[in-house]
Amino acid sequence: MRASFVNASRGEAERLRVPSDLAARSWDDLDFLGWVDERSPLHAYLVLADDEDRLVGVQLRRAPAGVGPRRARMCSLCTTTHPGQGAALMVAPRAGRSGRAGNTVGVDVCADVACSAYVRGLKSLPPLMRVPETLTVEERAARLRRNLLTFVDRVRAQR
Ligand SMILES: [Zn+2]
Repeated sequence: MRASFVNASRGEAERLRVPSDLAARSWDDLDFLGWVDERSPLHAYLVLADDEDRLVGVQLRRAPAGVGPRRARMCSLCTTTHPGQGAALMVAPRAGRSGRAGNTVGVDVCADVACSAYVRGLKSLPPLMRVPETLTVEERAARLRRNLLTFVDRVRAQR
């Protein structure tokens, strides 16, 4: 899995901390594996299988929180809206030379990267979201996957 990270150097991939409960997670309920480094909470990771069934990993770094009142933020992957710090702006270094030159892709994302659980109602939604969703769980999961693949394409894009 470490080899799947498209925007990490080999050294970074070897050093990144994989969650200890990996094997215990319910893979059937996951569109992707996402976790925040417990000891270094500004670092988050997501790993998914792309359309060719290859694992693709992306490392993310939480952007410094801005000043001023905290407003609600919508996760651009699963579209859950969180108040306060529930969602955060994270940046992913671009893959390859562009990333080494410091270029990043920003994304608003659930701070716990638990989008799959929100989509399936396995984690309770923030009060702002207690609006009836007209989409089924399958449709929401499909939307999450589309958004994830689009994001990964942006990270991988060379320009
Ligand atoms: Zn989310």
